[in-house]
Amino acid sequence: MGPVGNQVAEDLGVYVHFPFCASRCPYCDFATEARATLPHEAYADAVLAEIAARAPDWAGRTLRSIYFGGGTPGLWRADRVAAVVAAVHAAFPPAPATGGRAPHGPPEVTVEMNPGDADAAHLGALRAGGVNRLSLGIQSLDDDELKLLGRRHGRAAALAAFRLARAAGFENLACDLIFGLPAQPVARFAGSLDELCDLGPEHVSVYNLTVEEGTPFAAQVGAGRLRLPDGGVQVDMYELARERLAAAGLRHYEVSNFARAGREAVHNGLYWRGAEYLGVGAAAHSLRLVAASDRAAGPGTTAADRVAERRANPRDPDAYMRAARDGRLGPASVERLGPEARRREALWLGLRVLDGIWRPDFRAQYGVDPVDCAAAACADLQAQGLLAVEPEVLRLTHRGLLFADEVGMRFL
Ligand code: SF4
Repeated sequence: MGPVGNQVAEDLGVYVHFPFCASRCPYCDFATEARATLPHEAYADAVLAEIAARAPDWAGRTLRSIYFGGGTPGLWRADRVAAVVAAVHAAFPPAPATGGRAPHGPPEVTVEMNPGDADAAHLGALRAGGVNRLSLGIQSLDDDELKLLGRRHGRAAALAAFRLARAAGFENLACDLIFGLPAQPVARFAGSLDELCDLGPEHVSVYNLTVEEGTPFAAQVGAGRLRLPDGGVQVDMYELARERLAAAGLRHYEVSNFARAGREAVHNGLYWRGAEYLGVGAAAHSLRLVAASDRAAGPGTTAADRVAERRANPRDPDAYMRAARDGRLGPASVERLGPEARRREALWLGLRVLDGIWRPDFRAQYGVDPVDCAAAACADLQAQGLLAVEPEVLRLTHRGLLFADEVGMRFL
C-alpha cells in the first residue's frame, strides 16, 4: 500500500447486499427476508442513491471487484443488477497503473444465485449486463439433503443451472457445497463432490454446516430431532474434499475455498488481506482506512498510521429504502479499529489463506512483525502444532487447518 496522502490507488471491493429470498432456509441466520413480491425498482433506486452519495468518500481507489450477495441477488431483475454494475463502474473508472503496480484484469463481478432461479434469458441478461462470475448455491447434489436444507432446488435443477450458465457465456463459475449435515454419510458427500468435479467449476467452496442460534435447525438439534455427525466424521469429509478437489485440479488456497490457477476469488481475497470495501444495501458493512489523526494524514506517513472505520447499514430493508430515498442514510453503527486491533484482525484473516502471511509484507504494512504482535499466542499455537513459524512466512499447519476457527479466536 502506498503512503497516505500520496493518492496511490488502493484496491477496493464493492459489496451489494440484496436482502430478500423467496423462502427462508431453516439453518440460515443471514440478513434476509422471505418476500413473495420483491421491490426490484425501489431497492435498486435506494442502492443507486447510496452509491452516488458515498462513492466520493472512496475516490482514488482501484475497483477490483463487485459482489452481489444476500439474500438471493439472483432474484433481482437483471436490468436492475446491470444498472448497479454500471453505476459502480462509473463511480470508480479505471486509472492508469501508477507506483509500479502490476496491471490486473477487469474487475470481477459476481452474483450469488440459487440454481432454481437460473433460466437462460435471465443468465444471458446478467452476462450482457457486466456480470462475469456466478456463485451457484448448489449445496448438495442429493435430493434428500437439499430437502432437509429447505432449499427450493433439487439435484436436476443444480446440474441444469450449471450448464445453462456455461451456455450463457459464464467462464468463471463458483459452486458451494455444505457438509456435516444431519445423518449425512461420508459416501453421500463424496458423491456430491465427484459429480460437482465432473462439471468442471473454476471455484468450489465447502462449508461445514454450523447450527446458528435462533434458527429452526438449532431448535431441532436442541430438541434431539436432528443430530449432526460427530467431529471425526466432519474431519473425514473435509479431508475428502481436499483430496477429491485437488485431484480435479482445484487448489486448496483458503480454509474453505478451492480454485483453478488464477480463479481464486478476488472479492473475498480483498477481505482476507485487509483491503478496503464499500458495502451498499441494507445490512451491508464497509471498511475504510482513515487517518488516525491530522499528523497521520500528512506526507510521509504509512498505512500503519491509519485506523479502520467499519460501518454497518440499517438492517431493515424498508427502513433502508426510505432513508436512502430521502437522502438521509446514516450508518446503523460505526466502529473504529486502532492499529493493534487491525493487526490482530490481519493475523486472523491472513492465516485463513493457505500460503500464509508473508512476514516482510506484514511488517511493511503494519509496522511490526506478525509474531511480535501476538507473541504468546504464536508460541502457544506453535507448541500445539497448529501454526508454522518460518523465517519469512507464518502459516497454519495441516492440523491448524482443521482448527482454523479456534486458531483465529486466539488473535481476536
Ligand atoms: S437462500 Fe441463502 S440467504 Fe436465503 S434463506 Fe436460504 S441460505 Fe439464507
